[in-house]
Amino acid sequence: MKQKPITLFNTLGKQKNLLEPIKTGYVGIYHCGPTVYWTQHIGNMRSVVISDLLVRTLHISGYKTTLVRNYTDVGHLTGDNIGDADQGEDRMTKAVQREQSTPDEIAQKYIDVFQKDITTLNTLPANHTPRATDHISGMITLTQQLLDTGYAYATDYAIYFSVEKFPEYTKLSGQKLELQKQGLGHGDVADTNKKHPQDFSLWFFKAGAHANALQTWESPFSSSLVKNGEGFPGWHIECSAMSKHFLGTTFDIHMGGIEHIPIHHTNEIAQSACANQVPHTEYAHIWMHNEHLVTDNKKMSKSEGTAYTIQDIIDRGFNPLSLRYFFLQAHYQSKQNFTWEALQASETSLQKLYTTAKTLYKQIPWYKRLFMKPHAQYAHDFVSFLGDNIDTPQSLALVWNMIKDDSLSPSEKYATLIYTDQVLGLHIHQHITAKEKSVPIPKEILELVEKREQARANKDWKESDRLRDEIQNKGYEIKDTSDGQQIHKK
Ligand code: AMP
Ligand code: ZN
Repeated sequence: MKQKPITLFNTLGKQKNLLEPIKTGYVGIYHCGPTVYWTQHIGNMRSVVISDLLVRTLHISGYKTTLVRNYTDVGHLTGDNIGDADQGEDRMTKAVQREQSTPDEIAQKYIDVFQKDITTLNTLPANHTPRATDHISGMITLTQQLLDTGYAYATDYAIYFSVEKFPEYTKLSGQKLELQKQGLGHGDVADTNKKHPQDFSLWFFKAGAHANALQTWESPFSSSLVKNGEGFPGWHIECSAMSKHFLGTTFDIHMGGIEHIPIHHTNEIAQSACANQVPHTEYAHIWMHNEHLVTDNKKMSKSEGTAYTIQDIIDRGFNPLSLRYFFLQAHYQSKQNFTWEALQASETSLQKLYTTAKTLYKQIPWYKRLFMKPHAQYAHDFVSFLGDNIDTPQSLALVWNMIKDDSLSPSEKYATLIYTDQVLGLHIHQHITAKEKSVPIPKEILELVEKREQARANKDWKESDRLRDEIQNKGYEIKDTSDGQQIHKK
């Protein structure tokens, strides 16, 4: 299959670029993954679903992909995102204190929760999910290369990248260097030998503010304060090392949240371009950044109880795929505001989509079901919208327009729905056929269930309760689950 054209907004250059893969038909993607010290909130989930939408768009457009999504299990300090990491607190250490556990156990626990949550959202598994602690030697090698070539220097407390040595340092952010938040230490841990406030750490020695660091490794670097160069890597170098390991010194797309633009990704470009001797535009060709999810128009916050998780969604009786539907409604470059009312509206739309699909499916004689074909024009337009910088709101609107189009037969409509679900990922076909197979229920009862689904979608709780009683009186037990109604013979 010939690949369809895809344009993506590139933060580096601030314009849409045509994707021109390094290897024809094959796209390598690196996505900055979670810091595994706590359950990830639905904002993090938005970032994962967006990377999944990119991957699925590439697949439906004829490309093969390799997706790398790392786990940060060391060195992500509390000041990192604002460029003030030098004496930040280590997130893993905080978790160890909170849970009286070990860094490794903490990491494994939250990796498992994350994996379960992103599977619930029907995201395709990444091809590689490295843990930073498994790539320390790669980080040491890169740091050594930067020291050898004069881009980095050592003090007794750390090895720093010298930002003044890299003229393209501010290309990604477009900010003036002196306007970036100062990273110079303060208090009793200030490193007076740091040459420039924006110089950032590649390696922290187990000294000063980090004398009690829990996760440390020996290194070839020397400091008069520690033996054997013992310490731990700065956060940014991990992504340079892991992307190089799995994708090479130059690859196609790098993804992450917008907060990574001025610090984390800026530093990654500097390290990788200088250590590997590639131009700053060559490390990753396209930089895609997703805007944030906010709750009640405010930053999601654990202390305010608005950093909701997938479990919160399930506990409130929602189908988690309603959250995926909710994400589809906003463009990835727009801020999206989460409220429970908005999620309810998404759930209603998703249920309507399922009900519509079910009605269509029933209208297709079984002997025709094997030969259904999507409608060529709608299928083409769907892929074109996605190929234009992953425009999910437009592609979703197109699906609803297609459903309303009377010129299409039920089988064309159903086949087009299933075709689009390759990207939407809403389990449309599975939803219908799974129920048909596992619940051999008489038609009369199924109709009541369907009516009840409609009543629930209309929030007509009285009618929904009445229908539940009627179903029960006819000998069937009905249960409302996060995956819709489930029915069993009593
Ligand atoms: P972290 O664990 O904070 O390093 O975040 C993991 C990923 O989730 C990163 O790619 C972040 O950019 C992204 N992320 C964090 N918060 C949000 C948010 N509120 N909305 C969307 N993406 C987010
Ligand atoms: Zn990263």
